[in-house]
Amino acid sequence: MADIIQLLPDHVANQIAAGEVVQRPASVVKELLENAIDAKATSVTLVVKDAGKTLVQVTDNGMGMSLTDARLSFERHATSKIKSAEDLFNLHTKGFRGEALASIAAIAHVELKTKTDNSEIGTHLTIEGSKVISQDPAVVPKGTTISVKNLFYNIPARRNFLKSNPVETRHIIDEFHRVALAHPNVAFQMLHNGGDVFNLPAENLRQRIVHIFGSKTNEKLVPVHEETEILKIEGFVLKPEFGKKSRGEQFFFVNNRFIKSPYLHHAVASAFEGLMKNNIHPGYFLFLEVDPHSIDINIHPTKTEIKFEDEHSIYAMLRATVKHSLGQFNIAPVLDFDRDKGFDTPYEYSKKSPTAPSIEVDRDFNPFKEKPKQGNINFPFKREQTQSWESLYVGLKDEKNTTVSNLGDIEFESEEVTGSLFENHDAETGQLTFQLQNKYIVSPLKNGMMIIHQNLAHQRILYEELLKNITVKEAVSQQLLFPLQLHFSKPDVEIIEKIREQLENIGFIFSELKDETVEISGIPVLILESHVVNLLNQLVHDIKEEVPDTGFSQNDMLVKSMAASMAIKTGVSLNKEEREHLINQLFACKEPSVSPTNKPVFTTLDVSDLDKKFM
Ligand code: ADP
Ligand code: MG
Repeated sequence: MADIIQLLPDHVANQIAAGEVVQRPASVVKELLENAIDAKATSVTLVVKDAGKTLVQVTDNGMGMSLTDARLSFERHATSKIKSAEDLFNLHTKGFRGEALASIAAIAHVELKTKTDNSEIGTHLTIEGSKVISQDPAVVPKGTTISVKNLFYNIPARRNFLKSNPVETRHIIDEFHRVALAHPNVAFQMLHNGGDVFNLPAENLRQRIVHIFGSKTNEKLVPVHEETEILKIEGFVLKPEFGKKSRGEQFFFVNNRFIKSPYLHHAVASAFEGLMKNNIHPGYFLFLEVDPHSIDINIHPTKTEIKFEDEHSIYAMLRATVKHSLGQFNIAPVLDFDRDKGFDTPYEYSKKSPTAPSIEVDRDFNPFKEKPKQGNINFPFKREQTQSWESLYVGLKDEKNTTVSNLGDIEFESEEVTGSLFENHDAETGQLTFQLQNKYIVSPLKNGMMIIHQNLAHQRILYEELLKNITVKEAVSQQLLFPLQLHFSKPDVEIIEKIREQLENIGFIFSELKDETVEISGIPVLILESHVVNLLNQLVHDIKEEVPDTGFSQNDMLVKSMAASMAIKTGVSLNKEEREHLINQLFACKEPSVSPTNKPVFTTLDVSDLDKKFM
């Protein structure tokens, strides 16, 4: 048989290798920003167009490159940062593989302008698909500008694989955050499609965090500091009450390199134990410094993982240090567990009384009592314009009382639908239902019983209601006398701006939406004022994760997210009327049997099934 093995041509090998380094525009951003830092820049500007799909450009005022280096920098394994394998264990730079520029040049149109301090004139180099197209002398300032255009132009499959612009932008901002946080002493600017996204002067770490995540962050930070023989820890954790349901601000840097470490995360999370509910995640910005000899960062191509020589000690020290900081800043005593719960489940608010801290105060309250508002917008109780939390609670109680006394007026839309399905009871007792584990509603059927998941059922109800509002655009708002002023980070406000129209269709009225401020003067009747912050946080989080660009699927995703966030939770006890109302509403839905996320909403158990158990 003839020989069949052949060496791949360079440009093919480069393209294949590029796949490891460059997964998406954000990977280019990371590599270019890190190169600028390695070049000792004090000011770095990132310019992005179309989520980096058209352009990623980084300009720095660092050391620049000579004519030859400029050309060499695009060769594979060309690096000025290590010379031998030993150097790998004494790294003080971000890069060391000499792969990034070669990889990027294999799959994009690249332009480089650079000049060192001691040369009169700089150089201008253009490369396409690993081939040098031109190199000319150029009058440029000291430092380097690298422009990466039309990423994956020669690998359409990969280009098509890229996510929507909001998702890719999110990844870029994540990378930008990581580098900007690790180097607060360097000024960073980021522009997207011509607009300023970040403009960060050289500053200290606290200022940097606040600049990035919004001015409200300042009061949330608890400083962390510890120094031992093997480990130095600096940074901040967020006070426990500002923990989030989503993994928001969680940053580990080891020797100024951002890393992901479930192990170290566990150490921090365990320091928060007892201070936060289970499904709430702590926020932190922690900088660990260890002897470079004691770590191996060479285990992952994108270099966000790390191996420590002495993992166990680092775990123990980290945990103890964070615990100590939380204790020192008196976090534990001021914590209000009750309030923490309320944060999670807005309906729980009513259970708290501002005067008597008893949980039992208002056991029965829950949102279903508000439901009359939906069917009948001129509901009898007028929400008092509230000036304080206290009066909000009062209002809720009034509301409850009013609605309870008016329950007789509520028309359950689906009586005919459910009438035949459920057992008939006399009018006085109504349907026989009970609650199991504050999670399931059990109702007898003619030949068995039905078990309904209360949370999923309510999600289905809200989903259909909200979807109708968002598409038909006729939701009703309740005006707030005192507009809600909320604070988010700038990128988060931009996300809200993007979905503003849909939110308005649902009934939100925004009086201001800019920089870090969101002012809301009206909210949908379906929503409690106290739940608005949670809801927006959840939406922003879900959108960061994934959102289809436009149209129905985006509405669908928004509505799913809202329904999940607003639906009555497991653990909330429901009284008889509430249970019945939930069932009636559920069976008035178009698709009562599945939740918006395609989980079964209820199941049935036949008497024959039961009979089998007794054989
Ligand atoms: P690495 O960073 O792993 O060395 P890169 O491919 O990212 O590999 O860069 C190759 C080389 O190009 C670097 O080692 C450095 O000498 C040079 N270089 C890249 N970017 C810059 C920059 N912004 N300023 C100065 N030199 C740079
Ligand atoms: Mg590099």
